[in-house]
Amino acid sequence: MAGGNAIRGTRVGAGPMGEAERGEAAPRHRVGYWCTQGHETLVAFAFDAEVPELWDCPRCGLPAGQDQAAPPPAPRTEPYKTHLAYVRERRSDADGDALLEEALAKLRARRGA
Ligand SMILES: [Zn+2]
Repeated sequence: MAGGNAIRGTRVGAGPMGEAERGEAAPRHRVGYWCTQGHETLVAFAFDAEVPELWDCPRCGLPAGQDQAAPPPAPRTEPYKTHLAYVRERRSDADGDALLEEALAKLRARRGA
């Protein structure tokens, strides 16, 4: 009886499981981007990925470049969030409310029947 358990114990973890974690450490490198506001953004790219010349600063929305001394100029015509973006946001919210109302109405109708 004790011998059976011992044999079973040796089998646990004896399989070729050690290779499963290999995919975790994909090679990456970090690229720094700077906007005119002086914000630094570090973006991790896979080594075989194409690194874009510009990156939108996540803090102010301005374009950021890889040259800290010469960040790309801020485009005057494009504010941080465009009016259209606000409209889109509001509309999608309204659509969501309408859908929710519709679903609730159906639920109530079903429950009432
Ligand atoms: Zn910025």
